[in-house]
Amino acid sequence: MATMIIEGDRTKAASGKTYEVRNPATGEVVDEVPAGGPADVDKAAQAAAKAFTTWSKLPANQRREILHKAAQHMLSKVEEIAPVLTKEQGKTLLESRLEARRFGENIAWFADLADKIHGQDLTTYGLVIRKPIGVCGAIVPWNFPLTLAANKVAPAIAAGNTVVLKPASTTPLATLACIEALIEGGLPEGVVNVVLGQATGEAIVGHPLIRKVALTGSTPTGKRVMAKASETLKKVTLELGGSDPCIVLDDADLEGAARAISVGRFFNCGQQCLSTKRLYVQEGAYDGLMEKLVARAAKLKPGNGLDKDSRMGPMHTETQRAEVEAQVKDAVDRGAKVVYGGGRPKGSEYEHGWFIEPTILADVPDGARMWTEEVFGPALPVRKIKDLDEGLRLANDTQFGLGSSIWTANMAAAHRAVQELEAGYTWVNSIVIAHDELPFGGTKQSGFGKEHGVEAFMQYTEEKSVVYGGV
Ligand code: NAD
Repeated sequence: MATMIIEGDRTKAASGKTYEVRNPATGEVVDEVPAGGPADVDKAAQAAAKAFTTWSKLPANQRREILHKAAQHMLSKVEEIAPVLTKEQGKTLLESRLEARRFGENIAWFADLADKIHGQDLTTYGLVIRKPIGVCGAIVPWNFPLTLAANKVAPAIAAGNTVVLKPASTTPLATLACIEALIEGGLPEGVVNVVLGQATGEAIVGHPLIRKVALTGSTPTGKRVMAKASETLKKVTLELGGSDPCIVLDDADLEGAARAISVGRFFNCGQQCLSTKRLYVQEGAYDGLMEKLVARAAKLKPGNGLDKDSRMGPMHTETQRAEVEAQVKDAVDRGAKVVYGGGRPKGSEYEHGWFIEPTILADVPDGARMWTEEVFGPALPVRKIKDLDEGLRLANDTQFGLGSSIWTANMAAAHRAVQELEAGYTWVNSIVIAHDELPFGGTKQSGFGKEHGVEAFMQYTEEKSVVYGGV
């Protein structure tokens, strides 16, 4: 049975309660894990506060060396960790390997910043120093358990903070393996503590010792977390839902666009925050692009993520699949045309998992749920547009503001889209990939605060002004 990681302890829940983690492809039990609660969060916060007193005072170059060594050790275990992620989350082994590798790389990237915290010398009497904040909470969803944990843990500990980390209830196992590997590689016990169980999220947000909370999750959860965090005036970073638009103009490279849209919509079985969730195509490019998108969707064989032939795993939960199916049905009921997929794959190998076909819908009418809500699965609504004006108007007609893309050969059109798309990220003629160096985060109801980049690192420090009087 898996255990929580709290300082040197590998511990069960204080209540003794447990729950099962199940494989979304087969329904089989992968492991039983502790269902922690407020008492466990309290223990973890105390442990993190204790570790902070030494970790934050370590010379920054030593912190950098420890993190590099720990990251290297973790990276040597990618082949062990990837199947664990596939079994609990459902994604293909290829996707799991990429994600596990990204975890170690992210720790290493921020390790390099550990000794580059600069204050400012402002005048002859004043200066500004930067200090770590203290104990930080990290709350993570199930779609990219490792990537989204590393996005928080890596900058936090590189800056000298300590962490209480809560994975999603359904995906704790690969995260535990990664943190265990960091500790084996030399990360001191107590610097990162892992608590498990649904109830631990709210307890982290409410705990008085925890000074900052970073959440990746849905927009409704973000609102609840922000309200609760106000009780103790915690700093918050909120990476929330998105409904990323992609505009394709007549002069676009359609092969490149089709590839990027296919990855953007169907990677990770469409359960991505940064992605391609609404597609607006100019009339002249429409038929050619649709043909290419359908050809690509047809190659995405759904299957158990552990099977080498699978190109798309199952959806993570039954509820998640039901939600996407309801959104697709709503569009079809309103008159949308199913261009590809639209149902569940048939065959005995699909009977026990939450499989769904990659789906492309055309002529999706205004007001359909696929336009107004986040679609967190492999279903893509497409709409013809006359010109860039119409594309930009529709793209921005959403409460969300996470990512966005444009495909065009026209620099002026691309530049206008970059300026006018209301989103934290715009890709121009590019596959939707977040880069370590670039600050990533949403606007509007997709949240605020940054992950990745020097900006994320700085958000795990706070400034203090200092005046030295004459002696
Ligand atoms: P979720 O909001 O249900 O849960 C996210 C995490 O928050 C889980 O660990 C959950 O246990 C915890 N949580 C739930 N309620 C809480 C509360 N009241 N207090 C504290 N913690 C609480 O999200 P999900 O279904 O796991 O993930 C999918 C959502 O995440 C989608 O909306 C997706 O767009 C979003 N997401 C955003 C990004 C981004 O970077 N912006 C990245 C990935 C996923």
